[in-house]
Amino acid sequence: MIRNTIKFINPYDPGKFPSDIAKKYGFKESKVIQLASNENPFPPSKKVKEEYERAFSKINRYPHPEYPELKAALAEYTGVDRDRIAIGNGAGEVLKTICEVVLDTFDTVTIPVPGYTLHAIFAMLRDANINFIEFPGYRINADKILEKPSKLLFLCSPNNPVGNAVPKKELIKILENYSGLVVVDEAYAEFSGKTALDLIDEFENLVVVRSLSKFFGLAGMRVGYAIGNAELIEAIEKIRLPFCISEVACRTAIAALQSLDYYNEIKEKIIKERERLVNELKKIKFLEVYPSEANFVLVKVKQDIDVANELEKKGIIVRNVTGLLGLEGVHIRITVGTEEENNQLINALKELS
Ligand SMILES: *Cc1c(COP(=O)(O)O)cnc(C)c1O
Repeated sequence: MIRNTIKFINPYDPGKFPSDIAKKYGFKESKVIQLASNENPFPPSKKVKEEYERAFSKINRYPHPEYPELKAALAEYTGVDRDRIAIGNGAGEVLKTICEVVLDTFDTVTIPVPGYTLHAIFAMLRDANINFIEFPGYRINADKILEKPSKLLFLCSPNNPVGNAVPKKELIKILENYSGLVVVDEAYAEFSGKTALDLIDEFENLVVVRSLSKFFGLAGMRVGYAIGNAELIEAIEKIRLPFCISEVACRTAIAALQSLDYYNEIKEKIIKERERLVNELKKIKFLEVYPSEANFVLVKVKQDIDVANELEKKGIIVRNVTGLLGLEGVHIRITVGTEEENNQLINALKELS
């Protein structure tokens, strides 16, 4: 009954959750420090809280299927026209819908690795051929990507799990010479200050995918969007679920987009903490730290210590990304938390050496 493709796909690894660790080691759930999913550790803005309450009183009604007000808020935030914006239940759903719009069976998809595993999963679901190209440290080289033509290319900038952005020069070279559609996953763009959005008018073959889960701290709400040429956007909007995000998610997303000063302040805090965390991690001898432009840091573990597991015993969850295609050796990915959380992490790591 179940398609073979479904049987062959490895499930997406969502990492560990505080409730699991609390139960396993007998901690209070609220005491567990979650640094595994690149979430924003700060609370929502006052306006988001207010809109949450207001939307709650309307949950017996369907949301408007075209989400006009959300698109207007996104248009203002990104500076592009409303008809170039498609909505999704998180960037995840947007990525999946793009695959549904573009890919036929046996089409080839290019995926540079290490990268975000959902890209490959969604391509596989379409029974596509995947051409994984390894770029150590995700140092993208346009020529290597262009060697073999394909229908769809996934780039991730800043890259998850490495943390670096794709250089503009390489991206432009790709866009100028690649015959298929280039998806740039910008889930972390706000932390880097770098985006491909300024290229959207020039290149019809570019689609930028964004999320409100990270910078805007709405991971639990599930709101994402795509920006691309009007024809592609119309196709995505046509086939996505009519009410793909809830009224509550829609209203809180609009409120978040209207609380930009608040979230920019948080971003500054996170970036400052990231730099401090990187400096502290560099002092730990068994770790090798990758430079990051996102709200997380990738580190290589050079000694025979099961760091992720040892941290877990101390109530701190990080993501073990060892074995991820394109990553050589033992690696963990650490989300930048609050100052207090980062201090506890640093202390716990020092105890391990
Ligand atoms: C977190 C993440 C997403 C998913 O975002 P949602 O909007 O929560 O679905 C997409 N792409 C990358 C690279 C991510 O790290």
